[in-house]
Amino acid sequence: MGKLAKWLRIMGYDTLFFNGSDDSRMIATALAEGRVILTRDTQIMRRRLVTGGRLKAILIKSDQPEQQMHQVITTLNLDCQFRPFAICLECNQPLVERSKQQVKDLVPPYVFQTQSQYMECPVCHRIYWRGTHWQAMTRRLNRFAECQRKEEF
Ligand SMILES: [Zn+2]
Repeated sequence: MGKLAKWLRIMGYDTLFFNGSDDSRMIATALAEGRVILTRDTQIMRRRLVTGGRLKAILIKSDQPEQQMHQVITTLNLDCQFRPFAICLECNQPLVERSKQQVKDLVPPYVFQTQSQYMECPVCHRIYWRGTHWQAMTRRLNRFAECQRKEEF
């Protein structure tokens, strides 16, 4: 589920990840912030909040991240190109645009020479740029998008 959370952030969806046993905190947060719960835990699906419709929850069937993505994209009708690379993959914070000069001393020289667009996380100060890793993730996102189209038509 950690990988699924990361992919949703790559697409630009505000996604919190709760590890382990603290179900009550997760449920309270989801109710307070109007979030949808994605879970592999059938117990959560049986809670009255969920069966009564006050809290939207989706039971994730697969343990494979790609299949999980497919299920979430089709069930919630998500847009794979919603806001790509707008959210920090580690902190779930909206990224802030940075100029080339602002990141001069923060990125490797090769990156500085070849990239012109940069984003920074205001919390962890990680710098993002559209390098080869970014391109590989975009290709995978496009594959998810194709899955969705096949499902729709
Ligand atoms: Zn961050």
